[in-house]
Amino acid sequence: MTTDSADLYSVLGIERNATPDEVKRAFRRLAMEYHPDRNKADDAEAKFKQVNAAYEVLSDPEKRARYDRYGAAGVGQGGAQGFAGHEGFGGFGDIFDAFFRGTAGRRAGPQPGADLHATVQVDLEDAVRGVEHEISYERVERCPDCRATGQENGAPKPSCPECEGRGELRRVQQSLFGQFVNVTTCPRCRGEGSIVDNPCKNCRGQGQTRVKVTRVVKIPAGIDTGSQIRLSGEGDHGPRGGPAGHLYVELNVRPHEVFKRVETELIYDLPLNIAQAALGTDAKIPTIDGDDVDLKLKPGTQSGEVHVIRNKGVPHLRGNGRGDLLVRTHVVTPTKLTKAQKDLLAKLADTLGTPDIPDHEASVFDRIRSAFS
Ligand SMILES: [Zn+2]
Ligand SMILES: [Zn+2]
Repeated sequence: MTTDSADLYSVLGIERNATPDEVKRAFRRLAMEYHPDRNKADDAEAKFKQVNAAYEVLSDPEKRARYDRYGAAGVGQGGAQGFAGHEGFGGFGDIFDAFFRGTAGRRAGPQPGADLHATVQVDLEDAVRGVEHEISYERVERCPDCRATGQENGAPKPSCPECEGRGELRRVQQSLFGQFVNVTTCPRCRGEGSIVDNPCKNCRGQGQTRVKVTRVVKIPAGIDTGSQIRLSGEGDHGPRGGPAGHLYVELNVRPHEVFKRVETELIYDLPLNIAQAALGTDAKIPTIDGDDVDLKLKPGTQSGEVHVIRNKGVPHLRGNGRGDLLVRTHVVTPTKLTKAQKDLLAKLADTLGTPDIPDHEASVFDRIRSAFS
């Protein structure tokens, strides 16, 4: 008696005097537990095979008797011989059928078509106003010539000779560990049960063709770079009559020459010469809508002031109203001066003397100084 002889009973977790019913119940419970389709643990498959091997011996009175008497040697090398082709497994095949049905070899049915992606570039003006944009792209469509059957003129397709129209192949396999019913999708017809013997010329028997289509994308006011619009059902058609996928259009807003965008606000940088800044001026501010807006700048305007022009920014994508246009002032010191300009500025310099640093700049300076003292 070797240690192996005890193993088959312990594999099933039963006593040596277990009744045939107890053997069967233990096997069913463990086979369910370790079936690789249900149990994803690394050792599940190995355990599953052990359980099968043990059951194959212990469910057969004759083999069980030999096993009890002679150990593993009594039922062949590791139990291999005498197992294959044995007819005495009550319910064994049924259990495997129950496992495999519905998990493999399923007949191919309708499948959803793929989603498609496209990118559309728009100008900032269009992002502010909203626009309709025409887009052309390629997608898979059901072949109209064969009504997606792949058979010339959509004629009926003959049954697949490989699987006799079932779409799946069932093979009873004898293995070291017992009898398996292996069910696979038929490779010849890929599970359809029928084959194309006279291929449609338009789609070469595929049932689908690539077609260029043109659609209009309604781009709402307020979109920004990265915004996405979905055109439902405008993706690839689904194989075998499945629903079409969607077309996702990603938007890209081109940078603008004049305006910078920060979400719903637009920024306009307004240059001023030193005379305009000192005396004040009426500035004409361009807007994204195309018209100009008057902005009165008071005498003594400084660099970096921000003036708000309400409701001339970008519309809110969800909800009402729009953002503002922010005008930033930049006082530009002249670098190229004529002789006359230099003379005038020299006179001015005498009368102006040395200016005080404006309050807000002084406070920055104070902060830096105190940080180092
Ligand atoms: Zn087939
Ligand atoms: Zn066709």
